[in-house]
Amino acid sequence: MKLSVTLKYLIGGCFEMEITAEEMKKTMQKIYDLLDEVTPVNFDCGVLCGEVCCAYDEGEYRNKDLVLYLLPGEELMYEDSDYFDVYYIDPKELDYPRSWKDDVFIVECNNPPHCDRSIRPIQCRTFPLVPHISKDGQLHLILDENEFPYECPIIRDHIKLNDDFVQVTYKVWKMLISNPNVYSLILFDSRRRDNKRKGYEIVI
Ligand code: SF4
Ligand code: SF4
Repeated sequence: MKLSVTLKYLIGGCFEMEITAEEMKKTMQKIYDLLDEVTPVNFDCGVLCGEVCCAYDEGEYRNKDLVLYLLPGEELMYEDSDYFDVYYIDPKELDYPRSWKDDVFIVECNNPPHCDRSIRPIQCRTFPLVPHISKDGQLHLILDENEFPYECPIIRDHIKLNDDFVQVTYKVWKMLISNPNVYSLILFDSRRRDNKRKGYEIVI
């Protein structure tokens, strides 16, 4: 699935200590493996919408302009793939917290909705759940249709997500926010979301 440029909050990875690129890759692979064990629902939800979250192409969100924001360290998974092009952006050019100093990596999918699913980004694997930190500091996973320029039938029709998908996704996000950069970005987006007062559903 492809997320719009508005979905840029989900960055994660190096956790609190310095680790080598090889160790980082192994950590990412473990996260990918965990998420490979679960699916949002027990059927191909792409048939409901024509895989719109991979290949949305309307209005100001042209498919060629859509990118996925990677979590820190995830870029290491994309060294040699024909399915993705990887770029980096100075965080000053983005609406990111000022504390964020490192380059932000993004991928473009070359042929959506087709890709190498073994290395699709964490944002794709955990969609449509979005991490959110409440005012009392609790991590939640939410559904928020205001985050995307398209309509996701899972959210629209209140289709129940698999419990194991919700639990594993929560566990993964708990790990990811141990990276201070990730934590500050999710906190930043959470406060902005609350200030907009457009409403969202807390799943866990
Ligand atoms: S990585 Fe794959 S699943 Fe994710 S948006 Fe791109 S084409 Fe879709
Ligand atoms: S139903 Fe939602 S999550 Fe599933 S493919 Fe469509 S937009 Fe993506």
